[in-house]
Amino acid sequence: MHKEIKLLVLAIILIGISSLWLLNRGMDSPINSPMQASKSASLLPWPLEKSDERQKLLKFGMYVTPDPATNPISPPERFTGYHTGLDIEILPEEKESSVPVKTICEGKILFTGTIEGYGGVVIQECNINNQLSSVLYGHLKPSSIAVSQNNETIKPSSAIAELGDDRTEETGNTRKHLHLGIHKGNHIEFLGYVTDEKDLQDFIDPLPLLQD
Ligand SMILES: [Zn+2]
Repeated sequence: MHKEIKLLVLAIILIGISSLWLLNRGMDSPINSPMQASKSASLLPWPLEKSDERQKLLKFGMYVTPDPATNPISPPERFTGYHTGLDIEILPEEKESSVPVKTICEGKILFTGTIEGYGGVVIQECNINNQLSSVLYGHLKPSSIAVSQNNETIKPSSAIAELGDDRTEETGNTRKHLHLGIHKGNHIEFLGYVTDEKDLQDFIDPLPLLQD
């Protein structure tokens, strides 16, 4: 009788340990982790090659003025406000050479043209994290824009243009770089800066969505 109780206790302990082990194994599995699954699904390709080598000095949501003390760009640019996108800089050797710009997502083109402050601009409609959005690629060489506004779906990583020349009309007389903006909704929105911080909520920070 005494021996039987001992065996029963041992069996209960063994069942307990093995079920804890199985439970723990299940939690570690990436397939069973919804956090990890949604993160990898949302990552987008970068619009410029060699993205890890490029400086991203002017990030989403930064407040800048033309005062060098508040501005990460040297020399500072003339804009004031909260930056609605991510600026991606050129590499030193690219100042004179062609820098292709590629789509970060799949969708049709909503706008191509020239806009004050940007020079050449392409805006693409994309579904980003289940949010219908418009993606703005700014400071493009207008003559290089290779897409047009129609119902054709453009795949991610498709070359759409080259960056405009440094401090010319092609870049809106600013430095050669890419402004990447994501605005919620599929209407055309050109704002690169907003004066009211609250208005940033209409935009999405591109940086966490781009691949490592
Ligand atoms: Zn910018």
